[in-house]
This record gives sequence, structure tokens and C-alpha cells, in this order.
Amino acid sequence: MASIFTKIIQGKIPCESIVETDSEIAFLDINPCSHGHTLCIPKREVARLEDLPPEDAAALMGFMQRVAAAVSRAFDGTDYNLMLNNGVNAGQEVPHIHFHVIPRKPGSSRPFKSREPYGEGEMAAVGERIRACLD
Ligand code: 5GP
Repeated sequence: MASIFTKIIQGKIPCESIVETDSEIAFLDINPCSHGHTLCIPKREVARLEDLPPEDAAALMGFMQRVAAAVSRAFDGTDYNLMLNNGVNAGQEVPHIHFHVIPRKPGSSRPFKSREPYGEGEMAAVGERIRACLD
């Protein structure tokens, strides 16, 4: 599905581009969680991780590794989160898959603050449920 990121890929709206290949582009988030917050996206128009062909997903991971290393080096070797909001209920606003590289400083807010502990026997049942859905 076309989105604002299609326009960025096509150069129809500006972005602060970090690096671009034939199949991916990385650019700074316009509303950053921290300075250096960078989005890594494939040029293929897909919304979700599972929509991406496996070879594209593998290429995207290599691309992200390169971008994230540069972001870290640019901010004195900073730590960072690599995040994907996959779907509306996961916080995805732009329906074009994008990984966030978010530099973190000492005292930065942490993800995973909210937890949902398993009850007796639930962990095994959930494990079985997911294994049954593997391709
Ligand atoms: P999501 O919530 O979908 O995972 O994240 C979408 C991100 O895209 C947000 O962090 C938002 O600031 C960023 N964003 C939305 N529109 C634009 C834009 O036009 N340019 C840039 N550089 N970032 C954008």
C-alpha cells in the first residue's frame, strides 16, 4: 500500500537521508524519540514483516546492522533499541514496514515496562500454539 514513505522513496517529499541502496533506504525520523532516531525501510511496499520475502528480510537485517553501527558510532558508541511496530495494535502508524533505530542514553526511558505474566501451565500452552503455526 502506498504511504508517505512511498513519497520519500520516490523523492517526492524530502527526508534527511542517511544511506540508500537499490532496495532499502534509511532516513532520520521527523519526530525523534532521541537525536539520531533513524528509520530503516525496504523500498518494496509491504506493511508487515511477514509480507516481506525472506531474502528481502535478510537483506534488510544486513542494512540495519550497517546503519545502526553508524548511528551508534555517531553518538559516541551509544546503546540503541531496534524496534518494529508491526500492525496498528503494536503502534504502527505508517503502513510500510520500518525498523526504528533509537539511540539511548543513561536514564532513557525503557521499553518492556508492561509485562503480562503467565499463569500455571499457560507458558507451555502458548509455546505449543505458536509452534503449531510455524511454516
Ligand atoms: P510507527 O509508529 O509507524 O512505527 O512510526 C512511524 C514513524 O514515522 C514515526 O516515528 C514518525 O515520526 C515517522 N514519520 C511519519 N511521517 C514521516 C515523514 O514524513 N518523514 C519522516 N522522516 N518521518 C516520518
